[in-house]
Amino acid sequence: MDPDDYSAHEPDEVFNQPPALANYNLFEYDLPLREALHREGVGWIEAQAHEYGALLGAAETIQLGELANRHPPLLRTHDRFGHRIDEVEFHPAWHELLRIGIAHANHSLAWTSARPGAHVARSVLNLLRHQIDEGSSCPITMAFAVIPALRVQSELAAEWEPRVLSTDYDPRCIPAPQKRGALFGMAMTERQGGSDLRANTTRAQPLCAAGPGGEYALIGHKWFCSAPMSDAFLVLAQAKGGLSCFLLPRWKPDGTRNSFHLIRLKSSSAMPGHAFLGRKAVGLRPSWTWFVIPASTAPADRRRRCGAPSPKPAITQRTVTLSGSAYSINR
Ligand SMILES: Cc1cc2nc3c(=O)[nH]c(=O)nc-3n(C[C@H](O)[C@H](O)[C@H](O)COP(=O)(O)OP(=O)(O)OC[C@H]3O[C@@H](n4cnc5c(N)ncnc54)[C@H](O)[C@@H]3O)c2cc1C
Repeated sequence: MDPDDYSAHEPDEVFNQPPALANYNLFEYDLPLREALHREGVGWIEAQAHEYGALLGAAETIQLGELANRHPPLLRTHDRFGHRIDEVEFHPAWHELLRIGIAHANHSLAWTSARPGAHVARSVLNLLRHQIDEGSSCPITMAFAVIPALRVQSELAAEWEPRVLSTDYDPRCIPAPQKRGALFGMAMTERQGGSDLRANTTRAQPLCAAGPGGEYALIGHKWFCSAPMSDAFLVLAQAKGGLSCFLLPRWKPDGTRNSFHLIRLKSSSAMPGHAFLGRKAVGLRPSWTWFVIPASTAPADRRRRCGAPSPKPAITQRTVTLSGSAYSINR
């Protein structure tokens, strides 16, 4: 062909381009992953991974990822009558991606399967899922990561763990006890304190008996909180004894909204791969919480409602995994 003969091609003619990568099996095409799965002793997940790979590689599923990233979430601070609602509206494609991940136990398999290598098996499924959409992977990762922290406080775990491990995604913003499944977010970072969590200024005031399992009010702000549509949040705040971890439900046990105020959704440009998760700044004034993990004490055996006697905590060391990173909360 004469390179100077531009008339040889119509303007709309496409050449020297690969076909769209769609309708293929993500797992089947991933030889290193298939080999690793057997090397790590989780051959038992192969059939499930194969089926999942086909679903994720379908053109319709890939399209969900594109839609979820093309339509950023919207912050709804108030309803049309002026009541605070602090909700985040996501595109239906984003909800569908989350439903797919939850339905395939991407958050729960490591805790619900008794088979050897359950954590590796969960990673295999997640490696496939991450390729379709990264933003909705964050709530799935946090739902996975919250379980060890919840188990520190047995009564809270008994109430929340079944909801978190449910494979039924329920996007409704209603009190968690009425839902088929629940998600958790995590709020640690403040403007002046990221790596150095000791710089956090959010305060926790006991509403009655202080200590693990007790009820507290949190007052302060958070600069960063992924998955703002979650049903509950693990929040770090300064309590007597040091920085401690609290469970802040979106709705209080009396059925009213907690004071979890979303100030803004952050720009996505600084968060490649998590573009449309709906990160936001949060105001806590004062928010009702349960005390989960104290700075330097062991959990109480049971939750202490206001009016119940206080068990004496023992001294121990604890490290809790939040959002995939290890944050030591000892002093
Ligand atoms: C994808 C993503 C998801 C996140 N999700 C959440 C979430 O769900 N909830 C939440 O609360 N936060 C979340 N964060 C925020 C995250 O926890 C903070 O960004 C992190 O703790 C770092 O804090 P920073 O950004 O303030 O950086 P800084 O702490 O200001 O650090 C800036 C730089 O200084 C360096 N540095 C800091 N301290 C020291 C030191 N003492 N010595 C030497 N070097 C130092 C750091 O290594 C870094 O290079 C998320 C962040 C990312 C990227």
